[in-house]
Amino acid sequence: MGKLFENVLLITIDSLRADRISIYGHKIDTPNFEELTKHGYIFLNASANSPGTPSSFPSILTSTYPMMYGGYGRITNSRPYLPIYLKKSLDSEIITIGVNSNAFLSRHFGYSMGFDMFFDGLQNSKIKMSISNLLMVKLRPALGYAPYLDWKKLNVRLKYSILKALSKEKSFFAWIHYMDVHIPYLYSSKLKNILNKRKLRMINNIIIRMSRGESINIPENLIDEIKFLYDEGVIRIDSAIGDILDFLEKYDILDDTVIIVTSDHGDEFMEHGGLGHMPKLYEELLHIPLIISNQNLPKKKIDTLVDQLDIAPTIADVFGLPFHSKWLGRSLLSIHSLKDKVIISEVANSTISAKVDKSLWKIAVRNRKWKLHFYVSSSTSELYDLTVDPYELQDISNEQPEIVQKLMKIIGDHIKNVHWSNFEYRLTRTIKNLKLKGKI
Ligand SMILES: [Zn+2]
Repeated sequence: MGKLFENVLLITIDSLRADRISIYGHKIDTPNFEELTKHGYIFLNASANSPGTPSSFPSILTSTYPMMYGGYGRITNSRPYLPIYLKKSLDSEIITIGVNSNAFLSRHFGYSMGFDMFFDGLQNSKIKMSISNLLMVKLRPALGYAPYLDWKKLNVRLKYSILKALSKEKSFFAWIHYMDVHIPYLYSSKLKNILNKRKLRMINNIIIRMSRGESINIPENLIDEIKFLYDEGVIRIDSAIGDILDFLEKYDILDDTVIIVTSDHGDEFMEHGGLGHMPKLYEELLHIPLIISNQNLPKKKIDTLVDQLDIAPTIADVFGLPFHSKWLGRSLLSIHSLKDKVIISEVANSTISAKVDKSLWKIAVRNRKWKLHFYVSSSTSELYDLTVDPYELQDISNEQPEIVQKLMKIIGDHIKNVHWSNFEYRLTRTIKNLKLKGKI
């Protein structure tokens, strides 16, 4: 099959949960998101395969589960990394562009591989980045620094790189990752004139302390203020998208470019006792937006269950390429034959980090009705009926042993695919224990 479109622009927005943008029902003024969905597909049920940047990006860009290939963190050579695959397949026909300002997606973690032009915001940094410096990045917000570059600086980089590709008359695959919705909140609220700098710092401090595992009681009105700050980040991202749409139109490449917009994971507003994105597998952290936009695509809302594994194969499909043999997803362009998939999400940390702690491995498996969370270290599980309990508040694992057993089988198969023999042993032992307790 030939190329469907000349170019792909993949826009990923850190920490953007689906239910905070207007096209998913939130009352917020995001006209550029709406513009994008005038032509193309909105996926109403898209899931992240993990709730953190270091663990979800392997799923987005390698179409494999986070814990495969020895776990997440660094993109290793054995992972089927999309930019490398595109360069190998299309060689000099394509220019690959990567722009981000998240240390977990930097060259230090292997993300620059396969990119002709790669910008991770660290080139000019006075702080020489190393893994240990990441701690510094985490501390900077508490000291009053912005730890990330904003969308305006990243867009300058993106446009510069796209113009270079155009000047060489090449197709491009460009990926840009924004941080403007991510904590810490850097601007006081314009929407609600209640937040001064001091309060902003207090909120950021609370979030940082909670992400270190402290449990803090948060009054309801403070959660509302946090939501306002978050929404303002979403509005800034809407401007970033508008700026890109204007640019593509100006250079007459809007028709030739498929724009895919998604996020790496959501964020929590105390739904399960936390703020930001701790390593938990509840829907507020996994339900992500997913839009595939192009002037030549019909407008369609798609209800099918899809996940991040489907993104890399979709991009290969746009360029008319076969799928990499190691990829586990499918192309989302074949909307008529798309069927619900069973979504598997996982993480293995006590806080969001690039370092995997196998003893903290959590796996969730869901279909349209049921969702099972499985905690390997404590050998416990939770079961929710998403059709009546979408916020996962009522664990009914004790009432539905057959469903638990059925979903545990999928988790067992997944663990075999991950190839960690010690965990297979642990799972066998866990299943035995659950049987002994009469749980399955
Ligand atoms: Zn993230």
